[in-house]
Amino acid sequence: MTFGETMAALRADGPIRLGGGMRLSVAGAESNVAIGLARLGHSVRWAGLVGDDETGELVLRTLRAEGVDLTHARADRRGPTGLVLFERRVGELTRVIYHRAGSAASFLSPADVLPALDPPPAILHVTGVTPALGPNPAEAVRAAVASGVPVCLDVNYRARLWDRATAAATLRPLASSLAVVIASDDELDLVAPAAATTERDRVAALLDAGVRDVVVKRGADGATGHTATETVHAPARPVRVADVVGAGDAFVAGYLSGMLDDLDLPGRLARAVTVGAFAVASAGDWEGLPARSELGLLDTLPGSVIR
Ligand code: ATP
Repeated sequence: MTFGETMAALRADGPIRLGGGMRLSVAGAESNVAIGLARLGHSVRWAGLVGDDETGELVLRTLRAEGVDLTHARADRRGPTGLVLFERRVGELTRVIYHRAGSAASFLSPADVLPALDPPPAILHVTGVTPALGPNPAEAVRAAVASGVPVCLDVNYRARLWDRATAAATLRPLASSLAVVIASDDELDLVAPAAATTERDRVAALLDAGVRDVVVKRGADGATGHTATETVHAPARPVRVADVVGAGDAFVAGYLSGMLDDLDLPGRLARAVTVGAFAVASAGDWEGLPARSELGLLDTLPGSVIR
């Protein structure tokens, strides 16, 4: 189960200020994870608010088509569906522009989310994006984390939404209630205690606080997973980069899928870097994510045709 804001997404191949065509899709960190899990055959629920508008219909239709349970998703008239613009600026550099202040999702409150935790899910996935959307979504995250279900937090720091000090003040108090923490190497300090100053100390402090899995994402260098008894590094799968946006969410979907399948730490990380690589190698945040039967595709030789 997961919840958060999913927006309409418009993608331009060049600078937006020059005009030209854009492609319409949907984007949201948590719904990317939900789609990834659904494609891998897991039952997954997404709760959230969209505007009572056509882009809101697009969000719901897309998630429904991907097999995500929308029992606790609804349209709300207090604001529009959020909008995110992606522009390809130079080479592989993508610039992201948000129009999400005052969106329907910024009104998300505990009352929208807590009913979706009944019956309790095997795992609840939240991201650091949601508390950055406003006081109500922040409260929804706090209430859901306090509900007692096992929680995975992807720190997912967004500098366009809040500053690091506010993010740390919001996320650190959650740490002792989390089962899984996933963070980029430059985000770990936002959830680990301020007294810990190296990656090693931050990981140790989180494990001491009761977190079962601490996973550090390192982009093209792969990821390192830690539990109380093991540390395992998984290199990234070598792929030709098409679009790195969404790699982190895909990675999380793979990791959670491994947890739900009771894989060991190396197995969870292997699935995570594989699903992350699918996102990197295909255009769009979630469009290229693999079905379970496709997980082995990256083992085939480059340039081969599957007939
Ligand atoms: P984003 O915020 O863009 O979704 P992120 O910063 O949260 O990404 P990254 O660390 O960039 O997450 O990527 C997550 C995982 O995706 C990495 O651990 C790795 O397994 C995979 N990945 C990222 N970049 C590449 C790449 N260039 N080649 C192969 N795999 C990659």
